[in-house]
Amino acid sequence: MNRDDLPSALALLARGLQGAVDVAGFEHLPRPIFATAPTAPTQPTSAPAPMPPAPSETPSPSAPLAGVELGELLASVTRLTAPNAEKLRILRDDVVGDCTRCKLHRGRNKLVFGAGNPQARLVFVGEGPGADEDREGIPFVGRAGQLLTKMIAAMGLSRDEVYICNVVKCRPPNNRDPERDEVDACEGFLRTQLAILQPEVIVGLGRVANHALLRTQTPISKLRGSWQRYEGIDLMPTYHPSYLLREERDPQQSKKREAWSDLQQVMKRLAR
Ligand code: SF4
Repeated sequence: MNRDDLPSALALLARGLQGAVDVAGFEHLPRPIFATAPTAPTQPTSAPAPMPPAPSETPSPSAPLAGVELGELLASVTRLTAPNAEKLRILRDDVVGDCTRCKLHRGRNKLVFGAGNPQARLVFVGEGPGADEDREGIPFVGRAGQLLTKMIAAMGLSRDEVYICNVVKCRPPNNRDPERDEVDACEGFLRTQLAILQPEVIVGLGRVANHALLRTQTPISKLRGSWQRYEGIDLMPTYHPSYLLREERDPQQSKKREAWSDLQQVMKRLAR
C-alpha cells in the first residue's frame, strides 16, 4: 500500500468502526469517577466485530498498512469517532499488529500493549515489559507489578479502574533500559494511546517513562513530586516500582514514602 491508498485505508478503518459507533455511543456520557464496574479490557474479545474490508485491501496485522506514513495512520485512529475501547482495539490489532519496527521484536514472546479501563481518568506509564509481562502479554504482573497493584489499591482504586501501559511494548533483553532508537520507534504507539484515553492525570513511573513523555533529561530524583504537563494533561513523575523494590533494604523506606507522597498529590488532583 502506498501513500495514495491512505484515504481508502482510512475509509476501511472508519467502515470497520461503523457498527460499533452505532451500537455503543457511550463516549459522550460523563466519565465515571473511577468506575466501579470496569468496562471492557484493552484487548476485548467480545467487542462487536468490525466489518471486514475487501480481501485485496485487508491490512495485515504483521505488516499494518505498509507504506502509509505511521504518523498519519496514528493521527487518523485518534480522530475516529468511536468508543475508546474500539479505538484502542484498532490501534492494537490493525496498526501495532505484530510490529517489527525495532529490534526488540526479535526477542519478544508477547507484545505488551496495555491494559485497563478505556475510560480511565488515571493512566500509569512504565518503561517496558519484563520477563513475566513478556510471558503473559499483560503489563506490570511481576514483582514490580504486584507493588504497583498495592500502590493503586492504597489510592483506593483497582487496576480495572485505571489504565497501565509502557513506553516500549516489547521486552528489552536482560531487562536493560530501552535504547533511544527503540523508544523513538515505539513511542508513537504510547502517544496515540494517551491521545485516545485523554486521562485527567498520568503517572510517569521512573526515569525512562518520564524522560520519554516530557522529552527531558532531568533526573527522576528532581522531577518526582512536582506536577508537569504532557500534551495538556497533568503528569506526576514518580519512582518506578522496580526501583522501590531495590530500596526495600532501606529501613527508612524513604523512596517509598516519597512515592506515596506523589500518589497522594494525584489523589487530591483527581478529587477536585
Ligand atoms: S518495541 Fe514497539 S516499535 Fe519495537 S517491535 Fe515492539 S511494538 Fe514495535
